[in-house]
Amino acid sequence: MQVPLLDLKLQYQTLRDQIRAEVDQIMDSQIFIMGPKVEAFERAVCEYTGAAHAIGVSSGTDALLIALMGLGIGPGDAVITTPYTFFATAGSIARVGAAAVFIDIDPQTYNLSVPALRRYLEGCRTNAEGKLVSHAGQTIRALMPVHLYGLCCAMDEILELAARYGLPAIEDSAQALGADYPLRNGTGHAGAMGDFGCYSFFPSKNLGAFGDAGMVVCKDAGMAEKLRALRNHGGERRYYHKMIGGNFRLDALQAAVLSIKLPHLDSWSAMRRTNAALYRAEFARTGLDKVLTLPTEPYAASGLANQHIFNQFIIRAPRRDALCEHLAKAQIGHAIYYPLPLHLQECFAYLGYKQGDFPEAERAAQETLALPIFPELTPEQIHAVVEAIAAFYC
Ligand SMILES: *Cc1c(COP(=O)(O)O)cnc(C)c1O
Repeated sequence: MQVPLLDLKLQYQTLRDQIRAEVDQIMDSQIFIMGPKVEAFERAVCEYTGAAHAIGVSSGTDALLIALMGLGIGPGDAVITTPYTFFATAGSIARVGAAAVFIDIDPQTYNLSVPALRRYLEGCRTNAEGKLVSHAGQTIRALMPVHLYGLCCAMDEILELAARYGLPAIEDSAQALGADYPLRNGTGHAGAMGDFGCYSFFPSKNLGAFGDAGMVVCKDAGMAEKLRALRNHGGERRYYHKMIGGNFRLDALQAAVLSIKLPHLDSWSAMRRTNAALYRAEFARTGLDKVLTLPTEPYAASGLANQHIFNQFIIRAPRRDALCEHLAKAQIGHAIYYPLPLHLQECFAYLGYKQGDFPEAERAAQETLALPIFPELTPEQIHAVVEAIAAFYC
C-alpha cells in the first residue's frame, strides 16, 4: 500500500463548495490585497489564540522578520534560538543584520533546552549600560524559542528567564498554532504566551493556505500599530514614511480560505492525536517501541486536549538513512526535518560554530524522521507504515 506523507486533496474535498463560493465573491469584489477578509481573519486568530493583536502577513518567515524589525533589532545585536529548526528561524535573525546565538535542544522534546539556556545566560556579562552581552560581544535583544513539531517549549521557565534578563520572547509558532501549554497561572496558547507569536500558513502546515501566508500576534497595542505600518513599507499615512518596512501584506484569498479552515483546526488536531495514539499501539504490538524512540508528550498529565498537536510525528530510528531508503522503495511517505542543524549551515559559517557544539541537535539531525500523520490518514495506512518499518528491522 502506498502511503503519502501528506494528502491535502482530502481536506479540500470536505470544504470545496464553501471555499469556491468565497473565492467567487472575492473575484466579484476585485479586492485582493488586505481589506475586510484579512481583518476578519486577524480577529479570528485573536479569538482563537487569546492574542491581543494580530497582523496578517505574507509568510511565517515575514512574521518573524517583522517582529524583529518591530523591536529594532539589527547589526550589533544577537537573538537566542535553537539550531534544530526550519531555516527561517535563524534566517530572519540574520536578515535584520543580527547574530543568531544557538542553544542546544532537549533530546526528548527537540525544543530549546532550558538548562542550556540558563547556563548560557548566566555566563553572559552586562555592559556599562546594563545590557546583556553575548559571549561573542553582541547585545542580546530577544529570545526566539520554537515550538517544534506542534509541541510547546517549556514556557514557564523560558518566560521566567526572559523576565529576569529583560528580554522579549518571540515564539516561532509556525508549527504550533492550536497547541496549548500548562502555564503555572493557566492555559497558554502557542504564540500568545510571549511578547510576539509568529504563525505560518504554508500549505503543508497544520493550518494551510492556498499559497504563502503568515501572521504575527503581539501583546502591546503600540507595537501592533508599528507592525501594521512595517507590513506596508513602514508608512502610517500613505506615501509618508517615518520607517522603512517592506511588502509583507496578506491577500484576501488566503485570509478567506484560512477563515473557513480555522474553525476545523481543533478537530484536525484531535485526528492527528488519534493517529499518533494508533502508531503507539501498532509500534507496541510489533515490539518496535523498543527499537524506535517515539515522541514524548510531556504535558499529557495536564489534561489539556491540545497538549501536543502533532504537526509532525517524529521518531528516532537506528540506521535512519537505510530505513528511509527502505521506506522509499515501499512507497511509504517520510521526510527528514532537518538533516543539517543551522549552526553547521554554510551560510552561517561566519558565526563561528563547529561540529560538536550542539551534540543533541546534531544527533537529532542524524537519527530522526517524520512519518505520515495528516488528519485524514486511515488506520489501514498507519498499519501499512508500521508493517513496512517492521519489515526493515525484523
Ligand atoms: C514553516 C516554518 C517557518 C516559515 O514559515 P513560511 O510560511 O514557510 O515562511 C518558520 N519557522 C518554522 C519553525 C517553520 O516550520
